[in-house]
Amino acid sequence: MRLNFIHRKTFYRWKYILFVFIFSACSSRLPGNEYRLTDECVVVLADVEKGIELVSVSDDYTDKFGEFDLRSKLLVEPDAETPSVDDYLNNVASQVREWTDSEKEKIKAAVEFAASQFKKLSISLTLPDTIFVVKTTGREEGNAMGYTRSNYIVLTESGLFTFQQSLISLFNHELFHIISRSDENLREKIYSLIGFTKCNNQVLPEDLKNIKISNPDAPYFDYYAELETIDGTKLNGIMLMYSERPFDGGSFFTYTKLGFIAVTGEGMEKAIVQNSGKSVLIPLDQVKNFYDLIGNNTHYIINPEEIMAENFNLLLTEKTNLPNPEITDELLKILQTNKQK
Ligand SMILES: [Zn+2]
Repeated sequence: MRLNFIHRKTFYRWKYILFVFIFSACSSRLPGNEYRLTDECVVVLADVEKGIELVSVSDDYTDKFGEFDLRSKLLVEPDAETPSVDDYLNNVASQVREWTDSEKEKIKAAVEFAASQFKKLSISLTLPDTIFVVKTTGREEGNAMGYTRSNYIVLTESGLFTFQQSLISLFNHELFHIISRSDENLREKIYSLIGFTKCNNQVLPEDLKNIKISNPDAPYFDYYAELETIDGTKLNGIMLMYSERPFDGGSFFTYTKLGFIAVTGEGMEKAIVQNSGKSVLIPLDQVKNFYDLIGNNTHYIINPEEIMAENFNLLLTEKTNLPNPEITDELLKILQTNKQK
């Protein structure tokens, strides 16, 4: 039987309708603001109400703020009183924004990229069943492009105002933090690739607490590295981002100094070294073997968590000609074999 022109048109129209129906039936298993990352995990764009609910919860990150954190994150004047954690939480809540359609499309493409790369590279992960993504202005975190807390990613206006490829890299980076936070055993294996070993979490004494610049992606001090300083001293140290001067305006990123808190003790049980009542802090430029440990794949070196988030993105985007391909090669092996049963 041949289809005549009119019937052919009708047939194609029905085929088209059928195609649209099947296609939307497949993709509409999820509402428009939800995108599937793996069989077990969905990425959900939080609306303003849900976003405020999420960011208003205090956690180990906010509870450990010191003086510099509170003053710099709330941008207070030098003669103003130091704000409280509640002030911080109220401020974050006031920075939550609604998504635009183009932002939704970009994030959808970023989730689809990560999902397809997980399959292509046989990466198998233990993830939360839902990862929320919240949009904020970013003013609450020194105009960072993105950050994470709990099981949610925050993407900020500056992070979202970017090309698709950059957003894919940003999303991959932030996704790593969620993955790392979801699976402590996995994190331990991954950090060992760059010479960091698990120990007990250090509660920072006041002298360190008040100068530290807290990172929501890595709020703990529970991984140390075996270091050698330029004068030949060997010691164990935990990485710290800190400021050498009080906050007097601008983004806290412009105050950032990097160093290691000297720790002592056998095995897992470490304690911060004290000298004349002060904690011992080794500036990064005094450490001789830092790049021997972490490699040269990334310049974003503020913390083992950030170094490996960058390596994770390099792996997912299949960057070639890396200075230290063995790091991403080993990372891939770990991600292929780690899934908890
Ligand atoms: Zn990060």
